[in-house]
Amino acid sequence: MSKKPFVIQTILAVASCKLTRAALRVSGRGGGTALPGKVAMRFERNILAVTSKGMDIIIVTGTNGKTTTSNMLEHALTARGDDVLANKSGANLLSGVTAEITCSADWLGRPKKHTAVIECDEGALKQVVPLTHPKVIVVTNLFRDQLDRYGEVMHTLEEIRKGVRKVPGSVLCLNADCSLTSSLALDAPNKVVYYGLEVPYGDQSGAGVSDAMHCIRCGAKYDYEYRTYAHLGSFRCPKCGYRRTDPDVSVTSIDSMTAQGSEVHMEVAGRPLKEPVHIGLPAIYNIYNACAAIAAYRAFGGDAEEVAASLADVNSCFGRMETFMPGSQPVQMILVKNPAGCSQSIGYLTGLDEDFVLVVCLNDRTADGHDVSWIWDAEYEKLAEDGHVRRIYVSGDRAGDMMVRLKYAGIPEEKISAGCTDKDILKMSAESELPVFVLPNYTAMLSLRSVFSEATGKKDFWEKQA
Ligand SMILES: [Zn+2]
Repeated sequence: MSKKPFVIQTILAVASCKLTRAALRVSGRGGGTALPGKVAMRFERNILAVTSKGMDIIIVTGTNGKTTTSNMLEHALTARGDDVLANKSGANLLSGVTAEITCSADWLGRPKKHTAVIECDEGALKQVVPLTHPKVIVVTNLFRDQLDRYGEVMHTLEEIRKGVRKVPGSVLCLNADCSLTSSLALDAPNKVVYYGLEVPYGDQSGAGVSDAMHCIRCGAKYDYEYRTYAHLGSFRCPKCGYRRTDPDVSVTSIDSMTAQGSEVHMEVAGRPLKEPVHIGLPAIYNIYNACAAIAAYRAFGGDAEEVAASLADVNSCFGRMETFMPGSQPVQMILVKNPAGCSQSIGYLTGLDEDFVLVVCLNDRTADGHDVSWIWDAEYEKLAEDGHVRRIYVSGDRAGDMMVRLKYAGIPEEKISAGCTDKDILKMSAESELPVFVLPNYTAMLSLRSVFSEATGKKDFWEKQA
């Protein structure tokens, strides 16, 4: 680490950070959440090390579930009375994390809040952790994501490994069911806590998306005792013996799953929790996110029963299962950005026992990744088989590619409407007599969300923060 900055540098960095953010908000450009951090770093490159000093920090990284897991942790920590700092804006690169933490410090750069839950981009982890020294690092899972931004999934794994190596004192919370994620423990001196599902879920054939069929150590094909989704499950390499580690936090039964949420039984450190756990968000991947939150909360010194109880009323957040009511029917927005997440969202929709209208929005801007070929690996075919899908609207920069994909999936053309703007989608949703589900990728979600927020009077994320 570099030498300690002079006080004047710290003051300039903090002041420039706060003033830039204030200026952006006054001009209505609250979305520029990384810029204040970039400005601050021009005065003092490692200002984050100063402004996070003494804070107890949990960092959440991984392909899918970062935002929801962070939100669950923030919710639980707030419920126990902590004043929690979180980077809710989704600015999760070094500049964004720097902006969030530095803006919350006092003018001398001393933190005013003492607990933080920070969502961190997988590639930025190696820059963020040496400056923040987190108590706990959660890695949710690893799937193929935005190929042209990160390269292959193995590259992403190596990026995370570089970060982990820099902080041997941080406790790792790893998804035991993900052969890629749990491999982070193979050569790390860190204390490791594992979480996972002790029960199979869904299709056991291994068909569909798989990002990690072969052993990360020797290349042999994994055997599975059971699967949950994508490449997650109880894996074992028949050749070298690399296998799933028994988790410390585990789901022992899934008792119910509805559009409102799930009820599961769990075991923590070999003992069943007293009460069944209600998770106030639907779908299998939120059961994983709940396990991650419980494991991290415990590693942070909290009580498992306490965090488990808080999961019942956790809110959906910022495009992840967020619900709007522009008319008489709910509109639920589910962010999708890679094949595994998208297939799971489609699985969730087709598992519902009700008719609905679907909106699919695909952009290809920088934050989305310019290569949209991943849509060919997501299981849109399931939509063709489901009679509950009454109509599909398609929008976005790459609506044409999406139309072709849906056609190949076997969805009749007369069921699909193309060329919709955000305003068209809002109007249709307001008039719909059926529930509406929207599957946007990242920038499509940002723009739709702002149209729906304005129409329904929901506040934007930067207005929510104190
Ligand atoms: Zn092997």
